[in-house]
Amino acid sequence: MTFATTILTLYPEMFPGPLGASLAGRALGEGKWSCAAVQIRDFATDKHRSVDDTPAGGGAGMVLRADVVAAAIDAHADQRPLLAMTPRGKPLTQAKVRALAAGPGVTILCGRFEGFDERLFEGREIEEVSIGDYILSGGEMGALVLLDACIRLLPGVMGAASSGVDESFETGLLEYPHYTRPAIWEGRTIPEVLRSGDHARIDAWRHAQAETDTRLRRPDLWERHQGARVQSPSGARRRTED
Ligand code: SAH
Repeated sequence: MTFATTILTLYPEMFPGPLGASLAGRALGEGKWSCAAVQIRDFATDKHRSVDDTPAGGGAGMVLRADVVAAAIDAHADQRPLLAMTPRGKPLTQAKVRALAAGPGVTILCGRFEGFDERLFEGREIEEVSIGDYILSGGEMGALVLLDACIRLLPGVMGAASSGVDESFETGLLEYPHYTRPAIWEGRTIPEVLRSGDHARIDAWRHAQAETDTRLRRPDLWERHQGARVQSPSGARRRTED
């Protein structure tokens, strides 16, 4: 089944962009996902083809018009989830990425300028998604991030070996650190346990590292992980955020 993606944007030339290379590019060529970029401006109705206007109440910048964006949505949205990239949206998580990747695809609305007229979110069923607490110049980079995260999870895209339940965030913890040859680099050795061949010891070491690193680097994740543990002791390792 093809993971069908439609991106509503003022810059359709940005797609597939970097997703045309590497793992995602090969998967695109193999039809594992599809990418349709739609020019929002094609739905403007005035002679200047305007998509934005000045903010009601005054202030800097321009706001994307609800009528024009809604016309683009109505022409392209279907049973797939409809997301809008916005810094006010729900922060994207690995759990959300997994849920999306398991579905038929996604339609993504990319903002520009100051963002969308708020009535758009009242008038249409749209899920607002943020990729982090910083401001991009447009939603396109956010859409590329979200799509990259989904595409690598599609069946047959990554090698089976890395389909990764151990990956950072999948367990609610950061992943343990990795090492490879050379065995000694600038006088630094690989931890002895990883060269021991004792898989039980290696697993225990990796789990302990994952816990320590999460506690030190991401106290927020660690606290949530601890909370999940208290609620469900047996399922603690499998809990993800969300
Ligand atoms: N005035 C807005 C920011 C607009 S940035 C505010 O302060 O909330 C312009 C566009 O970039 C947004 O409409 C959105 O589509 C995109 N964007 C910016 N930051 C983003 C983020 N952290 N996550 C997702 N999309 C973002």
